[in-house]
Amino acid sequence: SKFGTTPLPDRALTIFDFLFDLETPFSRDPKAFKRPDPRGRPWILDAHSPRSYTLEQAKERTLDLSRAFAARGLKEHDTVLVFSPNDMDYGPCLWATFRAGAVASCANPSYTADELAHQIRTVDKPHPVKLIVVHPDALETTVQACEKSGVSSEMIVLIRPPTKASDPPVNAKPLAAGFPTLDDLIKESRDKPLPPKVTLKQEEMKTRLALLSFSSGTTGLPKAVRIPHYALITNVLQASSHWQQTFPLQPYDAKEKKGDVVMACLPFYHIYGLVVILHGSLYQAAPIVVMPRFDFCQFLQAIQDHRITTLFLVPPQLIMLVKQDIVKEYDLSSVRLAMTGAAPLTNEMVAAFRAKYPHVGVGQGYGMTETSTIISLLDASMPGGFPGESAGMLVPNIEAKIVSPEGKALPPGEIGELWSRGPSNMLGYLDNEKATRETLDSEGFVHTGDEGYITKDGLLVIVDRIKELIKVSGFQVAPAELEGHLLGHEDVQDCCVIGIPDEKRGEAPKAYITLTPAAQSRLKSEGEDEIISSIKKWVTDHKIKYKALAEVEFIDAIPKNPSGKLLRKDLRARHARTIKSR
Ligand code: AMP
Repeated sequence: SKFGTTPLPDRALTIFDFLFDLETPFSRDPKAFKRPDPRGRPWILDAHSPRSYTLEQAKERTLDLSRAFAARGLKEHDTVLVFSPNDMDYGPCLWATFRAGAVASCANPSYTADELAHQIRTVDKPHPVKLIVVHPDALETTVQACEKSGVSSEMIVLIRPPTKASDPPVNAKPLAAGFPTLDDLIKESRDKPLPPKVTLKQEEMKTRLALLSFSSGTTGLPKAVRIPHYALITNVLQASSHWQQTFPLQPYDAKEKKGDVVMACLPFYHIYGLVVILHGSLYQAAPIVVMPRFDFCQFLQAIQDHRITTLFLVPPQLIMLVKQDIVKEYDLSSVRLAMTGAAPLTNEMVAAFRAKYPHVGVGQGYGMTETSTIISLLDASMPGGFPGESAGMLVPNIEAKIVSPEGKALPPGEIGELWSRGPSNMLGYLDNEKATRETLDSEGFVHTGDEGYITKDGLLVIVDRIKELIKVSGFQVAPAELEGHLLGHEDVQDCCVIGIPDEKRGEAPKAYITLTPAAQSRLKSEGEDEIISSIKKWVTDHKIKYKALAEVEFIDAIPKNPSGKLLRKDLRARHARTIKSR
């Protein structure tokens, strides 16, 4: 990295220690990142109510939850699963988990019961699930997922009390009535002693597990990514040091109403929201405004109400700021930076955004779950402003190389696969040696599965994705997962799923399908439409909304190489030809 290195922790810390121990520096190196003192300032704000936590209040809430979780039997190496939209108590739940030396695993609150059950089963084996912190809206799904995965629904705790609308009666009794809230647990355990916090041994400084996040990586099904405390902490320090040298976040001063305020509309269960927004911003004393879900008008209203300066977004949200007329009705003058990540941002979008918001810096960051997010960030010191089309400069302590298919490192300007090495790389995939070896090599490089180049000036440009992964509005869709599911449909003989360009969402899944002989004969009598809608419904009935098939096309045979590997490239080319002829 052009930004060199930044001092990293020299003592074994949990994420809890890192955030709340303000007395002991994480490193004795005088060049270590100096954190602005966050005490006494608003720290976590609710977008839709006057509620807020200062750091001290958030810590108190975390300690209350520590007591409550211990009373529920949470021990070191157990799992707390969080199945909720963003909430003011999202952070405290995670921090109480980390304080106990337990592991947190966060899931998309719109997952179906099957998807959640997969996550519960995967983590429960090595790290027993002791608590499932659930939003009332997701309660019914969670109860079903517990049944499917064989985990007792006594593990369920509601992150907040239900409203009438969110609590549909089951057999005339409100479902939520049978489940305690976080506040109930805190009340019950009020008189219990505060359990001691876990102290990490120095030798586990880099390896002690904190998070099990899900990603399908370069190939196959979604897998649990093992992220240690050290990786999250170092990534926050790497990004903080980079910000400091390029576009410093100013700690917020509530009296003067000066300094940066950060939008937290991206989900905390995804590594981008979790590391960059929830931990990165708070560490730099920039308060976050928590939005449970993305609604464009509420988003604009929150910017206006809270004088938000810094937007962390995904590309489709940036596009809305450019294209939707309704923006005129809000005061967005506080915004000074709009950052995107999780999916590519085009040159055209950056240019259109600049034309409409000339005073707002715009740029992107690049990273992945397997690197605990940030590998590169925009460089505000570049002449002529942000090089929008590029994913910025490598952050400190990252080594990266562009590699040919033969494994040879390539010079600047040449396109190849990006490999990255740094302190925030994952430990590996949970219980999956083979996938770990394929992604994390013996020298410690993560093979990203993304294709790009690095300019002579050190700018990273991502041009394509060579891995199977499809990204719909920044959300991961694993083709292998959809293919496995589609094979369970009675009409499907064989199939292959690819990502196709989609104007609004960046990409969307398309399935190529060969039909069973029986379905083929029905095709003649019934026509295509019936079978296509039944296949699409098979996906929407069992999978979260963004995995829905945008298109289905029947094909005589799925192209494969002699060893049976699907030739997705051929189908992508075929789709491109279809588009041309439309
Ligand atoms: P996830 O693990 O869900 O964060 O997905 C990581 C993947 O998202 C990367 O490997 C890329 O394919 C894609 N991605 C993330 N950031 C960018 C970016 N700035 N430009 C292009 N692709 C990106």
